Amino acid sequence: MKPFPRAEISSRALKNNLVRLREIAPESKVMAVVKANGYGHGLLNVANCLNDADGFGLARLEEALALREGGVKSKLLLLEGFFRQADLTTLVEHDIDTVIHNEVQLEMLESASLSKPVTVWLKIDSGMHRLGFTPEQFESVYSRLKACPQVAKPINLMSHFACADEPDNDSTKIQMNLFNELIKGLPGDRSLANSAGTLYWPASQADWIRPGIALYGVSPVTGDLGGNHGLMPAMDLVSELIAVRDHKAGEPVGYGSYWCAKEDTKLGVVAIGYGDGYPRNAPEGTPVWINGRLVPIVGRVSMDMLTVDLGLNASDRIGDDAILWGKALPVEEVAEHIGTIAYELVTKLTPRVAVCLG
Ligand SMILES: *Cc1c(COP(=O)(O)O)cnc(C)c1O
Repeated sequence: MKPFPRAEISSRALKNNLVRLREIAPESKVMAVVKANGYGHGLLNVANCLNDADGFGLARLEEALALREGGVKSKLLLLEGFFRQADLTTLVEHDIDTVIHNEVQLEMLESASLSKPVTVWLKIDSGMHRLGFTPEQFESVYSRLKACPQVAKPINLMSHFACADEPDNDSTKIQMNLFNELIKGLPGDRSLANSAGTLYWPASQADWIRPGIALYGVSPVTGDLGGNHGLMPAMDLVSELIAVRDHKAGEPVGYGSYWCAKEDTKLGVVAIGYGDGYPRNAPEGTPVWINGRLVPIVGRVSMDMLTVDLGLNASDRIGDDAILWGKALPVEEVAEHIGTIAYELVTKLTPRVAVCLG
């Protein structure tokens, strides 16, 4: 018996998406971003499926260590860098690259005593204004890193886009130009492009692309679909109907009783709710795929269940699959109904959802 709710992860889709991104960025290496439990797809599952990637990007040291413990030998990069001086020893011991984006990290590096130098990616704030050294700080930081024996040479260079998911927004070009101007003539690898940069701003692909969401088959751009780029959704979120009920016109359903049937119908109860990470604020009409068609959510999503309007003539039965998103129902579309982004839906699933690799 398959558990439910479950996130069925397609290794074929993940592998396809890596191949496809290499076609889209043929000159670049791929730093596959697998932070946040592989965007909810299972950290080790994803890393093992994508063992052809040139490296993996993580947000936290714990994530990188989990990959090493799982036997992953590839290049690993901490995208937020290290937080404490003791982390540096761990980085060297496990051969993990780090971003360096602030003065405190720089001082920790300068005063560390390490058995071998650590590979760093110097992050320039070209306009995101979240992490990174400003263009004004760049020259002095670069010379300090160059002079620092704890730092492997050459120093790699990176930046991150604020608006690459807006194909008409010029700020991406401005960020690119600022970065390229600053690092002109310097050795070391360069990396700018997240998924949106990779797909929409080919000039940003540089030595390494850093795709996250696209690897999972999802487009980063509102109104777009991964499928439009030859990407395949890697996750099917599946649960089951646990009740099918006759429902009379005028009867409400669920907490607050705020939806009432206009006509006689049949309601289905699906075993998934906000306790599984399906958002409570999903409005009436958010689609669920059951037996080959889309049916609307009605009434409020509760902790363990949600209700759908199956229609008066429905022949659905208890035990039938209900797909909340996946190949049949793009997560991008579900996210738009709910007023969020697909990134949040896939990463917010709770441990109650079994992640199954297929
Ligand atoms: C998360 C992250 C990425 C991947 O972003 P996507 O939009 O999922 O492709 C790339 N680079 C950095 C620095 C990140 O933090």
